[in-house]
Amino acid sequence: MEIEKSGKKKCLQCDKPIAGRLDKKYCDDYCRNMYNNQTKRADERQIQHVNSIIRKNRRILKTLCPVGKATVRKEVLDAMGYNYRYFSGVYRSPAPRSLAYFICYDYAFSPIKEKGIDKALIVQKQDYFDKYLQNPWPAQCILKRFIRKQF
Ligand SMILES: [Zn+2]
Repeated sequence: MEIEKSGKKKCLQCDKPIAGRLDKKYCDDYCRNMYNNQTKRADERQIQHVNSIIRKNRRILKTLCPVGKATVRKEVLDAMGYNYRYFSGVYRSPAPRSLAYFICYDYAFSPIKEKGIDKALIVQKQDYFDKYLQNPWPAQCILKRFIRKQF
């Protein structure tokens, strides 16, 4: 909240000086509603943007792997516009393979190499995935140990 030199606060929505209680942020209900609606819309847009990327990724995985599992060259996913930065979760299959799968809702893929060629092993998400969803905290511990060593 901005406070003018005169000590008067300004409305978060319209920037006009506010009179009255010290904790007031808006001149009236109209300004408060406008401000809250705009903030909510911006939040919603951000969420929808990320959701639309993951949704598109899921559609690509589903197209390439309608049932069971499939192995596809990475360049096929690239050509279809797959965005590798976004996913809804990470699953690591149990040892000995211990592959990381990047989940997009109910489909997932694992980046693999076959004879030097980058490929995606695509699978439909199974219930047991949930048991092996990656927990970020152990990685955090490693990071802390690393930071302590550095400084
Ligand atoms: Zn106002």
